[in-house]
Amino acid sequence: MEASRVIYIAGDGRSGGTLLGQILDGLSDSVYVGELRNIWHEGFEQNEPCGCGERFRHCEFWRAVVEKAFGSFERLDARAMLNMHRSLARERYIPMLMLLNRVPAELLGSKLPRAYEDALSRLYRAICQVAGKSVVVDSSREVSQALVLARIPGIDLRVLHLVRDSRAVAFSNSRRKPQFRGDNASQHRKPVLTSSASSTLAFDEDGTTRILPRQGAVTSALVWTWRNASASGIPHLRRRRKIPYARLRYEDLVRDPREAIGRALDELELGRPDLSMIDGTYVKLGVNHAISGNPVKFNSGGVDLRIDDEWRRAMRERDRRTVTLITSQLMRRYGYTI
Ligand SMILES: [Zn+2]
Repeated sequence: MEASRVIYIAGDGRSGGTLLGQILDGLSDSVYVGELRNIWHEGFEQNEPCGCGERFRHCEFWRAVVEKAFGSFERLDARAMLNMHRSLARERYIPMLMLLNRVPAELLGSKLPRAYEDALSRLYRAICQVAGKSVVVDSSREVSQALVLARIPGIDLRVLHLVRDSRAVAFSNSRRKPQFRGDNASQHRKPVLTSSASSTLAFDEDGTTRILPRQGAVTSALVWTWRNASASGIPHLRRRRKIPYARLRYEDLVRDPREAIGRALDELELGRPDLSMIDGTYVKLGVNHAISGNPVKFNSGGVDLRIDDEWRRAMRERDRRTVTLITSQLMRRYGYTI
């Protein structure tokens, strides 16, 4: 059986991964599913809203996928899947996964890795079949999950490393951000938004609004460094485990999405796709079925991409200096001027 192709968006959060996923969803042969590593908890257990506005268990797309992959919602033990996920795809296992291609449970003779990998293989295959597409775009970000996926024979993994200026990420992390409204996510669907719109979404403190977690400047800079450095390690894996890899800067994506995406997919050995739905910085986004992610996932329609650089004006000088100091080495490597 042919392996399911997966474009895995790796890197830090608040870097435009949801927007990138939405744009890639518009390609003729790919389907964007959000952060699939969260499907067990946020989808199966919490029944959180899908990108289409419906709750996960009420979304027709996910119902069809789950039925194809596992028979029905009831037949899958989501708690067991979540536990397996948590015991295998941990960020702290990245060095071990990179060096030995193993997780600790395996060294202890556990059968868990096999069972988990089998379930993931079925899940991705079902997504391709239900969507009628051959490429799944997964914006899970965490490199540990990518390294677990890379071990699965039924998955043909390509890693798209998305990077954004560490100061912009830290500034975004310092602010309160609503993820969705618990009562009715679909009210967030709006026809036209810019790439920076997520930071201006209105919300009230009525107890139903979930807030994406906030981080201080030091934590944000350290997390940024860890996540980007580990993603940058992927092209250095030994030859027999080569994973196609491309790095894309958020700033380049927003400035010239056609060129940036075309080049990245080419580097991922997927060929130059038809990007006629992108006109300059104007992109048409369709309705998606994303798990987790930024609330911009609820937006469809035309979007004029604009760079979100509010941090240049509004970030505290002290935070800016701290983040620059901690991240300067990698920032330079990625071509940012400091
Ligand atoms: Zn949906």
